[in-house]
Amino acid sequence: LIQLYIPLNFLGVLYREIRQSLTDIERMFGLMHQHREIADAADALTLPAGPASVRFEKVSFAYDAKRPILFDVDFEVPTGSTVAVVGHSGSGKSTLARLLYRFYDVQGGAIRLNGHDIRRLTQDSLRAAIGIVPQDTVLFNDTLFYNIQYGRPTASREEVEAAARAAQLEDFIRQLPDGYETRVGERGLKLSGGEKQRVAIARALLKNPAILIFDEATSALDSKTEKAIQAQIERAAQGRTALVIAHRLSTIMDADEIIVLDGGRIVERGRHTPLLAKGGAYAQMWLLQQQEEAAAGAPEVH
Ligand code: ADP
Ligand code: MG
Repeated sequence: LIQLYIPLNFLGVLYREIRQSLTDIERMFGLMHQHREIADAADALTLPAGPASVRFEKVSFAYDAKRPILFDVDFEVPTGSTVAVVGHSGSGKSTLARLLYRFYDVQGGAIRLNGHDIRRLTQDSLRAAIGIVPQDTVLFNDTLFYNIQYGRPTASREEVEAAARAAQLEDFIRQLPDGYETRVGERGLKLSGGEKQRVAIARALLKNPAILIFDEATSALDSKTEKAIQAQIERAAQGRTALVIAHRLSTIMDADEIIVLDGGRIVERGRHTPLLAKGGAYAQMWLLQQQEEAAAGAPEVH
């Protein structure tokens, strides 16, 4: 019975993870254009390309009317700055990203880009402005080259290679016998969590969006990988407006503002050092993570 239960349970988890991964699934099935639950307004504006600020203005949201998820969430990511959102699992962090990408519409308040309510913008121009590095990246059963180029299918070979270089994938790709032509995904080479994340970063860099959203992987990473990810986030976020959903607090110490979500409400906000000094929810999470790390010796994930 136990033998049977474990794989079934594993599949359940996997299914949930896939359903929650942000952009890839929707694009994979080509749903973006065929089946839109959310339609453009007749007089929708095209957001001009260029730097953008993001504002969540008293946002309330529920997937199901009986169970509100976000309450009066209010914060701004000024153009070029990095705001981090932290909080326990289920507090509503990934929901913020889904709302910004307009997979769902808010029920109260508004989300604004450069002051425009995103419901007034064409979805194409909204989504062109946003790149998402999801929690769990979906790879296609195709070559590494295809999987990176997917970020912008019209990109040239040189541009794909430059993005791979910027995402620190080049050394990894070089040591593969088939290089960029290596097949990956379910039926090909299995990439580690860290490698998949770098593919997602390369895709996002190729897309070159004004706004970047990182939904950090939840799995524990060794400190070397964690440092590498932090460096990658910082590099990719340079010159962009970034929203970083963080599970490892050590990766967001330099954020311009840290938002602490609890049960869909902002319970604390500020920069790392003052938040620690305050001794509240953030400080508690920080302490807990330090203890967990010390106790577990951080398991190796590459
Ligand atoms: P976090 O990223 O902070 O872990 P999420 O934003 O993914 O949290 O989820 C917040 C809450 O919304 C959770 O309780 C989750 O179960 C619920 N939720 C997430 N996605 C859906 C959905 N598609 N339908 C219904 N409830 C959902
Ligand atoms: Mg999440």
